[in-house]
Amino acid sequence: MTQLNAKIPQGSLQEKWTNYKANQKLVNPANKRKFEIIVVGTGLAGASAASALGELGFNVKVFCIQDSPRRAHSISAQGGINAAKNYPNDGDSIWRLFYDTIKGGDFRSREANVYRLAEVSNNIIDQCVAQGVPFARDYAGYLDNRSFGGAQVSRTFYARGQTGQQLLLGAYGALSKEIKRGSVKMYTRHEMLDLVIVDGIARGIITRDTITGKIERFAAHAVIIATGGYGNVYFLSTNALNCNASAIWNCYKKGAFFANPAFVQIHPTCIPVHGDYQSKLTLMSESLRNDGRIWVPKKKEDVEAIRSKKLRAVDIPENDRDYFLERRYPAFGNLVPRDVASRAAKERCDAGYGIGPTGLAVYLDFSESIRRLGRDVIESRYGNLFQMYEKIVDENPYENPMMIFPAVHYTMGGLRVDYELQSTVPGLFVAGEANFSDHGANRLGASALMQGLADGYFILPYTLQNYLADQIGVQKFETDLPEFELAEKETIEKLQRLLAIQGKYSVATLHKKLGKIMWENVGMARDEARLKQAIEAIRSLKQEFWKEVYVPGSLTGVNDELLKANRLADYLELAELIAHDALLRNESCGCHFRVEYQSEDGEALRNDEEYKYVSCWEYQGEGVEPQLHKEPLEYEFVELKSRNYKV
Ligand SMILES: Cc1cc2nc3c(=O)[nH]c(=O)nc-3n(C[C@H](O)[C@H](O)[C@H](O)COP(=O)(O)OP(=O)(O)OC[C@H]3O[C@@H](n4cnc5c(N)ncnc54)[C@H](O)[C@@H]3O)c2cc1C
Repeated sequence: MTQLNAKIPQGSLQEKWTNYKANQKLVNPANKRKFEIIVVGTGLAGASAASALGELGFNVKVFCIQDSPRRAHSISAQGGINAAKNYPNDGDSIWRLFYDTIKGGDFRSREANVYRLAEVSNNIIDQCVAQGVPFARDYAGYLDNRSFGGAQVSRTFYARGQTGQQLLLGAYGALSKEIKRGSVKMYTRHEMLDLVIVDGIARGIITRDTITGKIERFAAHAVIIATGGYGNVYFLSTNALNCNASAIWNCYKKGAFFANPAFVQIHPTCIPVHGDYQSKLTLMSESLRNDGRIWVPKKKEDVEAIRSKKLRAVDIPENDRDYFLERRYPAFGNLVPRDVASRAAKERCDAGYGIGPTGLAVYLDFSESIRRLGRDVIESRYGNLFQMYEKIVDENPYENPMMIFPAVHYTMGGLRVDYELQSTVPGLFVAGEANFSDHGANRLGASALMQGLADGYFILPYTLQNYLADQIGVQKFETDLPEFELAEKETIEKLQRLLAIQGKYSVATLHKKLGKIMWENVGMARDEARLKQAIEAIRSLKQEFWKEVYVPGSLTGVNDELLKANRLADYLELAELIAHDALLRNESCGCHFRVEYQSEDGEALRNDEEYKYVSCWEYQGEGVEPQLHKEPLEYEFVELKSRNYKV
């Protein structure tokens, strides 16, 4: 088994990052100009990395699928970004943000990484304010904060319900400045289809131009992958349709280990599924749990009356409402972490108290806050979210409570990286949601934006230099090396194989089937038997896909179906790894809930003795079981406890 070195620096938790920076190798300005870096992705992680590295003087090539870097999925982030500024003076600190994040992840992440994240969180806010990001301010003009799940302080900075968009505009501004200066070259509408490795080191990528269909080769001294998460394996998720796993999956197949694939976050507050022809789910931001209270009726007859439209939510008297999160978790109430809130909603629906036409929904109710604060205040905080809800559901959430249900939202798993954010392939770095780094088994709200920007603005600019300092003297790479030729040939062959099938099912039909297998068996509640069934079902669906998928058109020109089929081919393989990882982890932790391992009151039951590790999977070839490597998690500074949000 490979010995995995997380490269954690020496010293106390507070000194580690400072020690790293004090002792790392640097690259002088003249040498920086000689290095080429590829960044794949222009979400918050990729755009911040590319702009910061360009500003340092490196030559950066940056790629994205969309027509503009501004349309990366990060734009959809609604609620906010955490930082330990403690502006409200309510007891926050770097330590507390670190502790909440480690605890929120159910003690399945590295202490040193998480502490560094909390430490640089404050720099992110300063950086973004300097860029002009219009964070919400209070009446006096100071930056405002609100609360997110898993915390008892208000540490979330926000810009109404469109924080991701505003942060991305800030990062895009920084990126555009470097594009204009010439240090960054932008390639839009280029989809990375393979990684090129030369002598064991990541040296380039193969892309397809999504307009012309042209397959191209790009070389560099280092490659950064910032292509986001893989939630769309489940077909229905809150992710944008363009989100995909192909870049990370190809890196995995080229030797980068995949960490904790089973850690998939289900978000409690999404608009419930409303039909069979739906291809996407919509998130209602966690920030709504600041002022919204979650409940279902206490009496089954009220549930029935609501379902048959004889009663409305507003007709149910206060005493007959079960505010189940407040009842079960008095200390955190509606602000328990996502995994806890999702399971509690599922428990009520499974027990027959779910509302809405399918019985798979609970209420998120603002009536009390509207009475207490006034409609104007609620509108100023969440106006765009309420508008979005009304457009989709055709009900006015100021008058009737919203209906919500859990849905796939975020993936804590991803390519395994060490403290330097380097994967197990030298020269291949991974940032943002694409890596597994900081969230353990459950991410707390408002911490993905923090992590993506920490990786891009404040970590990679240091760690990449440390790596490149050893590459001085390595000449620019040409793309006519045999490794590039082979990678390009294999990419084209895979696409041609897909086009040649000409079967009877559309990509969406087969993707939907995969989503159903995953949601029902590898979703919120997992058990051994169902996971085994899922693996069999995924394998036979994969065979069906390679026999029966229909992809029209050709390799050249715009071909969205080809693009989607290629992504589904990768999802089918990744889905099996997710189920496999979930099957081998015989414990419940964070979002990974194995029904066999739960406490008497239905809470996740960890097994620290046997599973206190990162599962790192190594690809062994087509049709061969991947190999598991365990990276043990050492807790030197915090005591492992059962998570408790009750007291
Ligand atoms: C609806 C919603 C709301 C959210 N709200 C919050 C919030 O309030 N706070 C919070 O902290 N987090 C939130 N999150 C999570 C957060 O938005 C994401 O985790 C984060 O934005 C991911 O950023 P990223 O840079 O890693 O990836 P992304 O923003 O997904 O960017 C991926 C980039 O990679 C490119 N790409 C992908 N594949 C390829 C390929 N093969 N070739 C070339 N380019 C490729 C894309 O074009 C894109 O530019 C939310 C998520 C959702 C879905």
